[in-house]
Amino acid sequence: MVSGKNKRKIVYEGRNYYWYVRINEHGHRVHILSEDKKLHLEYPFLDTEVPVTPRDIRNHLPRWNVSGTYMQALPRLVSADRQGGGEREFLLEYYKDTAQMQYMTFLKGYQWPFDVEKIFGGSSVIDLLVYRETILRRRRVFLDFMHNPGGETVDFDRLPAEARDYLRSAGACFGTPIERLECMNEPAVQFYREHGVDLGKEMLEIAVCVQHNNGGLSTDSNWQTNIRGIFAVGEVCGSHGVTRPGGSALNAGQVGALRAAEYIARTGNASGKEVAGQEAIAIQEERTRELGREAAKAHIRMLLPGDTEWEWEGKQRGADQKELLPEGNWKWNKQDTLCPEKERKWRVEELWEKAAERMSRAGGMVRKEADLRQALSEVKEDLKHFGRDLFISNPAQAARFYHLYDMLISQQVYLTAMLDYVLQRGGSRGSALYTCPDGEKPGEGLPDLFRCRPDRRALGGMVQEIGLWRQKDAVNSFTCQTSWRKVRPIPNPDSFFETQWKVYRERWNYL
Ligand SMILES: Cc1cc2nc3c(=O)[nH]c(=O)nc-3n(C[C@H](O)[C@H](O)[C@H](O)COP(=O)(O)OP(=O)(O)OC[C@H]3O[C@@H](n4cnc5c(N)ncnc54)[C@H](O)[C@@H]3O)c2cc1C
Repeated sequence: MVSGKNKRKIVYEGRNYYWYVRINEHGHRVHILSEDKKLHLEYPFLDTEVPVTPRDIRNHLPRWNVSGTYMQALPRLVSADRQGGGEREFLLEYYKDTAQMQYMTFLKGYQWPFDVEKIFGGSSVIDLLVYRETILRRRRVFLDFMHNPGGETVDFDRLPAEARDYLRSAGACFGTPIERLECMNEPAVQFYREHGVDLGKEMLEIAVCVQHNNGGLSTDSNWQTNIRGIFAVGEVCGSHGVTRPGGSALNAGQVGALRAAEYIARTGNASGKEVAGQEAIAIQEERTRELGREAAKAHIRMLLPGDTEWEWEGKQRGADQKELLPEGNWKWNKQDTLCPEKERKWRVEELWEKAAERMSRAGGMVRKEADLRQALSEVKEDLKHFGRDLFISNPAQAARFYHLYDMLISQQVYLTAMLDYVLQRGGSRGSALYTCPDGEKPGEGLPDLFRCRPDRRALGGMVQEIGLWRQKDAVNSFTCQTSWRKVRPIPNPDSFFETQWKVYRERWNYL
């Protein structure tokens, strides 16, 4: 429906939104406005030929984590069918004792994310129950801050001491969840209000999501990868353990960045020259640019392969240029840019959605060997067709095109690693439940799908490593090779202060 002001109306999850496109100095921008005007989002419109769909709207509406006080305020968890009907307080199906259900909800506040160690009677049972509703029963799950769980007044005296004492100390043993949340953490309520969601008047839809990357690029103690001059700092680096305890980000990010910077500044690592300080940093910067250029060229050849060096700026424009292009139909568009024609099968957005859905299904919190195999074969197939069947209808989409390419390669690596872990007879651990038909069931009344065999640290002393190779003469086919090595022993240095101070002062010599 188009309104008089050239705005289009979309009804999404029972709410009315309006969207429209405006052009400013940054180009085309999509605006999404909720009917009550409390929510106003703006994002770049990369592809002017593609309509905005409800899916796009959903992808841009606010989504944040609801840990901490959001759960400690003891909201009611309800599920509903896809249309929002048939509301049910599904935790009550499992917990016969309301106090136990409230206690587990409370614990979920700080015992998150999903942890296999906590599925046998612990707070991660809540994740399993949400998973059952959303994935297995295809329903939607909401946090309701307007009503107490169980529909009754909370009997705080029946809560175990850990929860009771906490809520007492916070002065929050009263009222409804929203009143408790406002009392303990008013900014948490305000935060959602600023994004158009009033927790005192409406429910908040939730889902179980992967919180962080477990695993990552392998580096040495200076955060340098096996490609000389390339450093992996932050969550992209696999410097943490299976469960990624709180604080891992500090080590991976800040400690890693400092170590890498110090190393570069001292060694001029990229060049192998005896330089230090600013000169070394400049060399490293140039090396990074050079590697970036090489990677970019390789990628662009995927769109425009051919032996002749592609000239940027379209200088070689002409019929002969088309002969260098990959099979398929190409045309010059209005912006004087060479584009594949739409006879190709998929749009970037379609393959993106498919890839994201696949990973949530097969490589998320519940992992089944058959699904992993299926997903791996799908991703290899998608990669094989990537340059051939995918089209971008606007050059501005190129960034997303390459982002998707990286995403598919990463999926191949991660799915191969997960499958290999299963084949090594690895059990469930960290944030992954590997299903096992003859394993233990976390609780009576839960689906057999959740049967699993806890790892019990059997592979705890080992590190899985995986290498990725592009297959010869095949742009989009990759081979992964897995291997296992022992965890490096923790050094046992002489911790006497003067000794360590000397080591620190002389660390130049140890790099
Ligand atoms: C809900 C939640 C709670 C957490 N709680 C804790 C905690 O309590 N303690 C703890 O230690 N850790 C915690 N973490 C983990 C921690 O926040 C992250 O590990 C850390 O922020 C990662 O920082 P980073 O700089 O490595 O990566 P990010 O912050 O993810 O930054 C990566 C950046 O790269 C950009 N980017 C990605 N791809 C491309 C591309 N192709 N081109 C250009 N840019 C790109 C992204 O947009 C992003 O800005 C939590 C994480 C989440 C999600």
